[in-house]
Amino acid sequence: MNKVDLHIHTNASDGKFTPAEIVHKAAEAGLQYISICDHDSIEGVASAQLATHSYPGVTVIGGVEINTDIPEGELHILGYFYDQNNPELKQSLERLRNSRIERAQKIIHKLRKMGIKIDFVRVKELAGEGSIGRPHIAQAMLEKGYINSFREAFMKYINRGGPAYVERDKITPTEAVQLIARAGGLPVLAHPLTLDHFESAITELKPAGLVGMEVYYNNYSPQQVQRLQQVAETFSLIATGGSDYHGLDSMNDPPLGTVEVPLEAAERLIALSRR
Ligand SMILES: [Zn+2]
Ligand SMILES: [Zn+2]
Repeated sequence: MNKVDLHIHTNASDGKFTPAEIVHKAAEAGLQYISICDHDSIEGVASAQLATHSYPGVTVIGGVEINTDIPEGELHILGYFYDQNNPELKQSLERLRNSRIERAQKIIHKLRKMGIKIDFVRVKELAGEGSIGRPHIAQAMLEKGYINSFREAFMKYINRGGPAYVERDKITPTEAVQLIARAGGLPVLAHPLTLDHFESAITELKPAGLVGMEVYYNNYSPQQVQRLQQVAETFSLIATGGSDYHGLDSMNDPPLGTVEVPLEAAERLIALSRR
């Protein structure tokens, strides 16, 4: 049975369940090591760790997933074993979270000037506890009948270069890696196959402090896993992984702990964190 899941979201970002509920589910699934990796937030980690008092078989590794921007799109950097009280990390994450809200407000303002009247309150409602994003704006436009599809919202208005587009407060992948490393953490590249040329990203991130990359990930085929294992070995990176569980009823969201991750992945990270 699989014992490791190092990529789980809670309602501290865009996941459905509370950190305590996740720990409960992890215990039920027989998981030994889990990591709470919320987008731009470490708010769920402490309460998950507290919840393990009732489930001593589960160890919660503090994690985070930082969304970063590159010209080709987005790249996600995971961080493990950072100091949860590191002021720079906490402030930077707060700034990233706030910038999402400010950006949404600016986009809504631009849309309003174009005659498209959607409410920030509704957009925030659609985002729930999670980080607010353009899909929530598209959803609000769809609800009010301004567009017929998500695609139309992006193509006509909110894509990069579109009339209602607003640039985000950016952090580069290298900055994210350095931020985690300075907080005493272990930076890991998330789901590398979302990028066409992820090897060149690794070449850049390794000197900045990257120690691992996700190799075991939901929907990765055995061939893809094998290829990623080789890349990890070539770059001397720890092969980690997880389900990227959000608890949403979607086809792309596999149940907690269903991605086969070797115990070694957690053990190597733990060993490195103690050095
Ligand atoms: Zn991600
Ligand atoms: Zn994720």
